[in-house]
Amino acid sequence: MALFESLGVPLKTERGRRVFPVSDKASDIVRALTRYARDSGAVLVRAEVTGIETADGAVTGVLTRSVGEGGGQTASGDEFHPADAVIIATGGMSYPGTGSRGDGYRFARALGHTVTPLSPSLVALRTACDVSSLEGLSLRNVTLTLRKRGGRVVYEELGEMLFTDDGISGPLVLSASAHIEDSSPELYDAEIDLKPGLDEATLGRRILSDFAKYQNRNLCNALNDLLPSKLIPYFIAAAGADPHIKINSVTKETRRVLLETFKRLVFPIRDFAPIAQAVVTRGGVDVREIDPGTMASRLVSGLYFAGEVIDVDAYTGGFNLQIAFSTGVRAGASAASGAGAKK
Ligand SMILES: Cc1cc2nc3c(=O)[nH]c(=O)nc-3n(C[C@H](O)[C@H](O)[C@H](O)COP(=O)(O)OP(=O)(O)OC[C@H]3O[C@@H](n4cnc5c(N)ncnc54)[C@H](O)[C@@H]3O)c2cc1C
Repeated sequence: MALFESLGVPLKTERGRRVFPVSDKASDIVRALTRYARDSGAVLVRAEVTGIETADGAVTGVLTRSVGEGGGQTASGDEFHPADAVIIATGGMSYPGTGSRGDGYRFARALGHTVTPLSPSLVALRTACDVSSLEGLSLRNVTLTLRKRGGRVVYEELGEMLFTDDGISGPLVLSASAHIEDSSPELYDAEIDLKPGLDEATLGRRILSDFAKYQNRNLCNALNDLLPSKLIPYFIAAAGADPHIKINSVTKETRRVLLETFKRLVFPIRDFAPIAQAVVTRGGVDVREIDPGTMASRLVSGLYFAGEVIDVDAYTGGFNLQIAFSTGVRAGASAASGAGAKK
């Protein structure tokens, strides 16, 4: 954080110790790091790496394909040769538009490394029920509980979420997704407490007072003080109530079901959204094949790893970037000094 502040990028810390630029612009971080690298004497070459060359168990260079567009020097040839150290820092395979398409996994595999199964993490979830009518709606100060059906709670947090055309997303949902087993997303339910600040007795009194106020309205027109209007039709249907019933004929039993629905609106999960839309890739180069002190490959001399290409992932809010920065600093220093390289 001190580094970024010194590079002219003020930071803010949000709930859950999540750190962001005050500007909320990722491009500020990229610009600061690019300037920092250039000012430190690094030469930036814009080229696509197509392979890593080795001889006798040690790296000797990388093959590249020039991409020719502005932003630093353009690669003049097709290889960087000789090189006594290469760092694979190609990121994961989500958001391929950012350039990380999973090439590093291919390079690592070709050199004998194990890549653990790759799957999306910090990703939107598709629901088994139709939520298309709620698309674009965001909810603040709700509690999301993720439960393995018929069993244990795997995640519970207060925060913000939103609805997509076929499911749920937003900070709470992205974090919750990291707790779902890859093979069985359809076994989980997301339960939303729409009124986490009110216990059942208080909420019950609040519903009664609203119903007294709106006793001549239909149910669908009596919940506006408690819910965003876009959610009301869905909420009433989820409670199994008649939207057109007059408030003064709502039974105690219906009130009880409405109360339960406020405290536990259930969205059965069908699937993860595709990995291309995931914030981070779960899985990667097996950490057992990397020396954690130097980030050096235990298999190929002069080869190092940094960032998301490694089998590590964490919550959003700077934790993945911290992994990338910390492993990057260590890999860079080791590559420069030859630390960890097998003789
Ligand atoms: C929308 C979004 C939001 C995110 N929000 C957060 C957040 O709030 N907090 C957080 O901690 N993390 C966040 N992340 C995750 C975080 O950005 C990544 O974990 C982190 O950037 C990984 O760093 P990296 O250097 O390993 O890889 P990347 O940042 O992916 O960089 C890899 C680079 O390698 C280049 N590359 C790949 N293949 C080749 C090749 N063959 N030749 C040449 N170059 C190549 C790519 O072009 C890319 O520039 C977010 C990610 C996304 C997509």
